[in-house]
Parts: sequence; C-alpha cells; structure tokens
Amino acid sequence: MEPLIELNNLYYKYEDQSDADWAVDNINLEIDAGEFIAVVGHNGSGKSTLAKLLNGLLLPTKGEVMVGGKSTADEEELWEIRQQLGMVFQNPDNQLVANIVEEDVAFGPENLGLPSKEIKKRVKEALEVVGMAEYARHAPHKLSGGQKQRVAIAGVIAMRPDCLVFDEPTAMLDPVGRQEVIETVEQLNREENLTIIYITHFMDEIVKADRILVFEEGEVALSGTPAEVFSRIDRIKELALEVPQVTELAYELKKSGLDINGDIFSIDRLVEEICSLN
Ligand code: ADP
Ligand code: MG
Repeated sequence: MEPLIELNNLYYKYEDQSDADWAVDNINLEIDAGEFIAVVGHNGSGKSTLAKLLNGLLLPTKGEVMVGGKSTADEEELWEIRQQLGMVFQNPDNQLVANIVEEDVAFGPENLGLPSKEIKKRVKEALEVVGMAEYARHAPHKLSGGQKQRVAIAGVIAMRPDCLVFDEPTAMLDPVGRQEVIETVEQLNREENLTIIYITHFMDEIVKADRILVFEEGEVALSGTPAEVFSRIDRIKELALEVPQVTELAYELKKSGLDINGDIFSIDRLVEEICSLN
C-alpha cells in the first residue's frame, strides 16, 4: 500500500530568508495511514512551516508533498487534499466562527454543499466523538479552552478527513484542557483510525505516538519510537528539549545504580519497577 503522505526532497524558504537559510531543509518522509506521528523541536525549527506545506497553505520551494497520491502543487487537487487533511491550530478562538456550538461544527460540511440531513448527522457524530454532545446548543465563547479546542476538532472531523494535523493545539490551555485535548487526539487515532500529525513542545503528551520526529533548523535531527528517542537523553538536551519528567527520573535512578528496566513513560510504571526491586 502506498503511504498516505510522502515528502520528497522537500525544501521551503520564505521570501525574506537568505540564500543559506531554509525553513524546511530537505525532508524525506513517508507517513502511513493510521500512524500517530509527533513532531517536536524548539521555536523556529520549521514545525509550523511543515504543517502548512502538508495541506498546501504553502507550496514547496523545491521537492514535493504528496497526499493520497496527489501533489499539493497541483491546484486542481488542492480542494480534495484539504478535505482529506484537516488542520487544528493553537488558538481555539480563531477557529470558532458561529454563536452556537452545533452551528460551528456544521460550518465545514455546509461548505461542502452536503444535504442538511447529512450535515445534522455529521455534526451530531462529530460532537459525540469529542465528548461535547451535551454542549451542542451552548455558546462557544462560554466554554473552557479545552472544550473550545474539542469543538474545533469536531468541526474538522465533520469534514471526514483521513488525517489531522495539529499545530501546538494545547499551547494556550491549562493542564485540564491539555489533558482533554491529548486524550481526544489519542482516541481519534485509536478508535476512529485517523492518521495524526501532532506538533507540540510538551514531551509528556507524545509518549503514546508511534513515531517522534525531532526538528532542528528545518531538518529531522532525530526520529524513532518514543522509547528510541527518549533513550537519547543527552542528544535531546543538546537540542534544547525536555524529556518527560518521569523518564528522566528513571534514567537518573538507573545511572546511580538502581536496577530499573525498560522504558519508563508513566509514574505507575516507575512505581512498579521500584517496588519490584529487592
Ligand atoms: P516553528 O513552528 O518550529 O516555531 P516555523 O516553521 O514557524 O518554526 O519557522 C521556521 C523558520 O522560518 C524560522 O526561522 C522562522 O523565523 C521562519 N519563518 C516562519 N514564518 C515566517 C514568515 N512568515 N516569514 C519569514 N520567515 C518566517
Ligand atoms: Mg510553530
């Protein structure tokens, strides 16, 4: 089966960038349908540029982005690519357009020109998936940040995409909102089988990803499963990133001689390991 997304020798330069500067610098990558890919990297490393290249908001300076076998550079395919690949951004307030939650979620399907019965069905299903069905008649501006972001997600999945790209969707949220959003994202991947590309700077949000890509100056500096990436603690620190606190604690304990096994991504797991020492 061909990959859902293919990046081939992908480069991007903004108009005012100098000759040697690339916002995205020769990325080659394949993403299969159903994968949960996390993207991390410090500010300015090219993450948002990549997100915008994926759905054709930006077009490659060199190389190509293929989604479902279609190139984003092909203007006739863009409409379909944007349906196939939905985007969720940082600020939920900028993504909500209507005064009632269900109208907001209906906005996308209405633009697709679907019959009203189909729109209603999709709105109901999308709100159920994100756990916001009971808020269908509420005013979006009165919701919490996490709830608003879940409504924004419902609006995107009502378009029935194959893939969702999230660009730091939790950056403006409190810890409760962050948790709501990351759980929703994990569930979309697990239960709805959506392909996920999740950009964040919170390392503890991505321990369940299939693959982590660490960006540095427009390039993929490090990639692999969470276990592979987080085991390179020194390299991660070099890239000015954090490892999840519990993973670092386990690493330090191991270094000081405790016989701790495996990859520790959760407190429960670490407690288990420590209790089993004798
Ligand atoms: P990230 O999302 O990882 O913080 P960006 O993709 O926003 O990184 O930025 C990558 C590089 O491109 C940075 O050097 C940034 O300064 C530059 N850049 C981003 N947006 C623009 C823009 N609109 N015009 C010029 N340069 C930009
Ligand atoms: Mg960014």
